[in-house]
Amino acid sequence: MLQDIKPHLLDNQFRELKPTADDYFFSFKANKILLTIGEHNAVTLPFFGDLYASPEEVEGLTEYLFSIDNRHFFLIRDLEYLDLKGRTLTYLPINTIYKLKEKWQIFAGITAYHLNGWYSKRIYCGYCGNTLENSIHERARICNECGNIEYPMIAPVVMVAVVHEGKLLLTKYADRDFDLHGLVAGFVEIGETLEEAAQREVKEEVGLEISDLKYFGSQPWGISGSVIVGYFAELKGSETICLDQKELSDAAWFERSEVPHELSDLSITYEMIEAFRNKEY
Ligand SMILES: [Zn+2]
Repeated sequence: MLQDIKPHLLDNQFRELKPTADDYFFSFKANKILLTIGEHNAVTLPFFGDLYASPEEVEGLTEYLFSIDNRHFFLIRDLEYLDLKGRTLTYLPINTIYKLKEKWQIFAGITAYHLNGWYSKRIYCGYCGNTLENSIHERARICNECGNIEYPMIAPVVMVAVVHEGKLLLTKYADRDFDLHGLVAGFVEIGETLEEAAQREVKEEVGLEISDLKYFGSQPWGISGSVIVGYFAELKGSETICLDQKELSDAAWFERSEVPHELSDLSITYEMIEAFRNKEY
């Protein structure tokens, strides 16, 4: 999965570091990420040394994010005033991130995207409208006016692989660019357990009942600002699918031998489908 980057190691402990020219930085604009374009259009992560400005000049605009091994990663929140002309830095659609050569770089970019989303939405206090400031003790934004403290937001998502008599239920989303098969998934709602959310999502999306939920694993997924919790479950009752056409364009039962090879090994969806193919469930 995306986060499996051994022998590399993510260190997300909060620290107050200042950038140097050798450190990596991320910058996002809407759903685009700033990347360096090299020979043959190969993309790489930018360094502070790739900017005209020195790290000191942009220091007030940067947030230290995390480290992978001894590499430090920062976020530059506002590059508007910097001149990128003549440089090889370009804002590219966020999905370009999957073209990075190393998995740890993709994981870094997606994790940074999640944190950028949080920083971008936590400029002002949601209670009193005062400008929030960084805590010096932890990753949090604090309001010195009313005392409100905002911590990074992570939205839990459940993903369910429903199996029945040696078949797996695969779905396709409606109205998305992503046209490959996946599994039933959705955000957990307030007041629900993960298991209740799994049962509700399966009922809503395909009209089926499930039982015997078995925890599979989890995955941080910064693109949707979430952590995905995967379950296998047995069908309970009728196997007749009633599709929620607002959410899905298709859903069907697949024998092990029919399950398509479509996904990359970055996602928990892939891991779960392969676990089914390999008769682990
Ligand atoms: Zn406030």
